[in-house]
Amino acid sequence: MDPFRKGIRVKREWESYLMATDKINLVGLTLDELAELVATLGGKRFRARQIAQWIYRHGARSFDAMTTLALDFRRDLAEVAEISLPAVARVQESVDGTRKYLLALADGEHIEAVRIPMDKERATLCVSSQVGCAMGCAFCLTGTMGLKRNLTAAEIVGQVCAVMEEEPVNNLVFMGMGEPLANFDNLVKALKILRMDEGFNFSSRKLTVSTSGLVPEILRLGACSDTSLAVSLNAANDALRDQLMPVNRRYPLEQLMAACKAFPLKDRQRITFEYILLRGVNDSPQDARQLVRLLHGVKAKINLIPFNEYPGSPFRRPEEARIEAFQTSLLDRGLVAVRRASKGADILAACGQLRAQGTTTS
Ligand code: SF4
Repeated sequence: MDPFRKGIRVKREWESYLMATDKINLVGLTLDELAELVATLGGKRFRARQIAQWIYRHGARSFDAMTTLALDFRRDLAEVAEISLPAVARVQESVDGTRKYLLALADGEHIEAVRIPMDKERATLCVSSQVGCAMGCAFCLTGTMGLKRNLTAAEIVGQVCAVMEEEPVNNLVFMGMGEPLANFDNLVKALKILRMDEGFNFSSRKLTVSTSGLVPEILRLGACSDTSLAVSLNAANDALRDQLMPVNRRYPLEQLMAACKAFPLKDRQRITFEYILLRGVNDSPQDARQLVRLLHGVKAKINLIPFNEYPGSPFRRPEEARIEAFQTSLLDRGLVAVRRASKGADILAACGQLRAQGTTTS
């Protein structure tokens, strides 16, 4: 059965997927899109809700499992659609319990997702949004790959499904491979699916999008979504940030801070600023003072992340005393500054260390 002939309005993402498999991947469809597909097969809207529940809540990976749907309807569905996830190619476990998932995509590319245990019950999943990244941050291993392509919404959501088939996850942070806001439409669609009542039902508090500083997209995100925002800052003056993060030449700190101040926040919500501490580069008392001045008037929380060295990395981690002095300097001036324990460094799963190693992408 040709889905085009059935009059299904195929979205751009479906089209590309159809070319590869001839079937529509239901993972990565919003509830409205699912309902549209169901309607073309003669089904009622509540069937779409049932399908979403089967896929996300009950982990159904075949239509046979969807026993609340009529047999004929399941058969029709199976002719035009499938439930397809990225395949888990390898799982590496760190001494601290962090697990790095290497996931194979349908076209042979690979991405990484990292599950970080917070305590016995809770875990955060660091999700990728692109294969590689074009932003070229000087301290980041992913940046050395360049950009291969954006992930589809199906691949973003599929990553979460693939890991959650193995073990539970409570929070999602879009801080894996890629600049999420450079893949804006697919990101926003994936967020919508991840929040679906009939699906994983992640609340806005449990979803954080991290950006290197794409100012127009920060404003667009604030206008269409209430997820939390994190900004990878890493320098408090333009001269240094220009060197560390080329995006700063396009959107310097003044513009970035204006966008952060305009980003809608709920009462007790803050923007998280990630600050990777690099020895002799951005870890001086003067850097700390500049950071305090820069964040004046912003509802901010600072995550201090001592640099995770990797083989061949151009930067070093600061000495312990220097890290402590930097944090104290921020705390003394009234900022919320948390030192983030870097997890998974022994398996290259820590911040800035993802590169889908041992695959076609490395
Ligand atoms: S830090 Fe993020 S935005 Fe910068 S190169 Fe790495 S993945 Fe891309």
